[in-house]
Amino acid sequence: MKIEATFLVSAASASDLPRDGLAEIALVGRSNVGKSSLINALVRQRVARTSAAPGKTRLANVYRVTRGNIAPFYLLDLPGYGYARAPRQATRSPQRGSRGGVEVRGALSPAAARRSSQAEFDAIVSVVFERAPAALLLVDARHPGLASDRAAWQWVHAAAGIAAVVATKIDKLGRGERIRALRELESVFETSVLPVSAVTGEGLDQLWTLIDRLKKPA
Ligand code: GDP
Repeated sequence: MKIEATFLVSAASASDLPRDGLAEIALVGRSNVGKSSLINALVRQRVARTSAAPGKTRLANVYRVTRGNIAPFYLLDLPGYGYARAPRQATRSPQRGSRGGVEVRGALSPAAARRSSQAEFDAIVSVVFERAPAALLLVDARHPGLASDRAAWQWVHAAAGIAAVVATKIDKLGRGERIRALRELESVFETSVLPVSAVTGEGLDQLWTLIDRLKKPA
């Protein structure tokens, strides 16, 4: 099936995001989880930059993706969150009524630099999740149940219209490890977890099926 993907914009604020009402799927995950590699493998083209230098990542990269004759959609690639730092909690804000806005809050970080980078991360997460997109949380298959991933699942699950978990780099695990890791992931996230590999292409067809399902929730 023919796939076309184009980079649209690096969005810093709501006004940068597309407004034509196409379906949106937000991709969330720790830095280095393999998000860029997965995007490129999925669309079979190098649209996303892999192993990007830290620091560039306070923006949401938006890609417009068309596959076969199915309606095009946007991939909203959020910045990776830090290894040690959990993203602050984002919850639907009741004051914002039926639009279902997202409010981001949490404990203050001691370091000012960290604080401002966290604030930027929170800001872009808030802008994107205000739209209640469908979302995929990417977690590294080798590290099930990291605190930062659990925290991310909490806010993704609360703020996204519909969300699912994908385990990346599954090719790095042997048979036994893989079964154990998936079992642990499914227990931690209390949902089924799709194993994928950007290297071998495993799981990519299933990921397309999942994306189609997220795009049009029943
Ligand atoms: P990002 O920071 O989440 O965008 O992660 P990248 O896509 O830049 O990947 C981080 C590192 O993991 C790179 O060295 C990739 O080559 C490697 N990587 C990404 N996906 C896979 C995968 O499916 N299998 C393996 N073995 N390595 C991967």
